[in-house]
Amino acid sequence: MTVATQRERQTATAAPTTAILELAGLHVSHGAINALKGIDMVVREGEVVALLGANGAGKTTTLRTVSGLHAPASGAVRFCGERIDGLPSHAIVGLGIGHSPEGRRVFADMTVLENLHMGAYRFKRLRQEDLERVFALFPRLAERRTQQAGTLSGGEQQMLAMGRALMGRPELLLLDEPSMGLAPLVVAQIFEIIKEINAQGTTVLLVEQNAAQALKVADRGYVLETGRITMQAPASELLDDPRVRAAYLGEAAR
Ligand code: ATP
Repeated sequence: MTVATQRERQTATAAPTTAILELAGLHVSHGAINALKGIDMVVREGEVVALLGANGAGKTTTLRTVSGLHAPASGAVRFCGERIDGLPSHAIVGLGIGHSPEGRRVFADMTVLENLHMGAYRFKRLRQEDLERVFALFPRLAERRTQQAGTLSGGEQQMLAMGRALMGRPELLLLDEPSMGLAPLVVAQIFEIIKEINAQGTTVLLVEQNAAQALKVADRGYVLETGRITMQAPASELLDDPRVRAAYLGEAAR
């Protein structure tokens, strides 16, 4: 099944696009390291936005700051127009931001089902329809619901990390390197599922080293270099840009 991209749907319906996430002049330091040096970004409702950059550029720091895991030294993070920097991470989850972290970080000693329960902690109890949605997106997780998460394959653990984030019914889903270390076939599957999640109405901010795949599912992209945004453009333009192709798509500079 081909899932229409958000861009196609927006063109078809001319839906208004309001900012769901805004980063303004964001500076974040880890001790003496200035990881983010004043970044500005916008993610609009319904978009898939890719954040690209080399190792150490500050991509993970960006997502962790949005989730309240790092406090900015200055600047603002706004979700649906409201300042959220300074809020604890559980409050940010409660507002509707889900985070599938780098390295998956599933609870290895818990079963698949128990991990999914953990993702639903913002609600008093797990909602059956949320579980059914996750199992429909990831049938593999349904088959393995009683299996210990630590015994899942890398791809299955990635599915579980994404499923766990979705159990909190996020309006905005942060995905940190979902394709890392996975075989090409599994990578293709994961990106299809990202498209499907977006088509179901969830906005996505995607951090990826796999720039080619990320830009194929994204509406727009930002390039982060040593803590600064150096490019921002529609994904199709970035895919064609000689600098992006040379730096992130493994092609010789033209
Ligand atoms: P990667 O793709 O390798 O994960 P990244 O773009 O996600 O890289 P970050 O992990 O955000 O980059 O790191 C940005 C910079 O901040 C790097 O120089 C990194 O060494 C540094 N850094 C990140 N976390 C910490 C920390 N907890 N303590 C000290 N320095 C840190």
